[in-house]
Amino acid sequence: MQYGRVQEIELLERLKGNDCQFCTDGSLVPGEYKGNSAVLCQSCQTPAVQLW
Ligand SMILES: [Zn+2]
Repeated sequence: MQYGRVQEIELLERLKGNDCQFCTDGSLVPGEYKGNSAVLCQSCQTPAVQLW
């Protein structure tokens, strides 16, 4: 069962497009951080969430 993994993917889907919490003008886009799936700010590159 990969049930937990599915929930994590849904979390990434929900977060993308949100405003960044760490800078004023960034928004979150799906990407990778240190080789893991993550949602990053396109402006400051801060990961809002990462999965591993
Ligand atoms: Zn940012």
